[in-house]
Amino acid sequence: MARGVHTEDAAGLAGLVVLGLQVSWHVVRRAASSRVVRRNRAARHVSMFAHAQALTREDGVIYMLGRRLRGEASVIDLHTHSTVSDGTEPPARVVDLAAAAGCTAVALTDHDRLDGLEEAADRAQTIGIRLVPGCELSCVSATGGMHLLVYFVSATSQPLADSLTRLQRARDARNAVMVERLRQLGLPITAEELHAEAGGIGVGRPHMAAVLLRNGAVTSIEEAFDRYLAQGRPGYVDKERLTPPDAIALARASGGVAVLAHPLTLGLSWGGLDVAVRELAALGLGGVEAVYARYSLEERSRLAAVASSAGLATTGGSDFHGAYKPGLEIGLGYGDLAVGEELLLALEDRRTRGGG
Ligand SMILES: [Zn+2]
Ligand SMILES: [Zn+2]
Repeated sequence: MARGVHTEDAAGLAGLVVLGLQVSWHVVRRAASSRVVRRNRAARHVSMFAHAQALTREDGVIYMLGRRLRGEASVIDLHTHSTVSDGTEPPARVVDLAAAAGCTAVALTDHDRLDGLEEAADRAQTIGIRLVPGCELSCVSATGGMHLLVYFVSATSQPLADSLTRLQRARDARNAVMVERLRQLGLPITAEELHAEAGGIGVGRPHMAAVLLRNGAVTSIEEAFDRYLAQGRPGYVDKERLTPPDAIALARASGGVAVLAHPLTLGLSWGGLDVAVRELAALGLGGVEAVYARYSLEERSRLAAVASSAGLATTGGSDFHGAYKPGLEIGLGYGDLAVGEELLLALEDRRTRGGG
């Protein structure tokens, strides 16, 4: 899609004038800037949008119209994290960054929490892009961690919201037990320090590692995990997780649709993955995240084939975490992500059909 930005923006601008919209040059220049960034990996960090203090609805509408007038396909991002879980950007900022990257829709999918959805929805409405409300559930699985993305739920979706609150209480209790164990090992850490480190929300092992590092008990985050915090180490306490059948049932009962996130994390062979996806489909899974930023083009297309042979939708996203995953950007991934809007439509179709 190598084309002249200036010609196109001129065409886009003419179209906008014909449409009788009030166009200001700085807005057009910002949209153009964002597009240059899209095609230029080296320049991605200098997006003017990324530094925009506040986008307006007019900015969003003009940007989207510009894309349509230039005949560009719309892109979306169905996997992002904010400060509500383990991302570094607040929910509203995640939405701004999605708009800056040219996304017409963005899903906020914080780990096991729905707390950021309202802020993100407000922001999305203000700037005129679509928020797909969601979350990412950690599940137990025989082969290790399984994550399920859940879409089309809100902070008040039941029974999901109550289940997540209960899980959070269980995790608060687990964190307290872990801190106690670390203290018994003679390590310098208190519950107060831990909560201060986490900023009061989404407390977890990375925050414990950070406290141990700051207090000089270890020389790196890695060492904190290797010696004390990893599974099987003396400070570790297992955390309560949902089973995949429970998570899928919970998603469906709450009006949502469940999607298997980054399926290669399961560590299965392609044949094994095929079987696992079919089993999950029988439980009501709605889709498979195939267009995942970290995956190669070949892996993405093989995963799409796994999804379609199980009769499931294909989804995609960046798994943006802000500064915690350097170089990974909303909508763009590592520069080669392009999730089409049609994937969202297919996913919505799964929801109305009630999953598998
Ligand atoms: Zn995940
Ligand atoms: Zn994620």
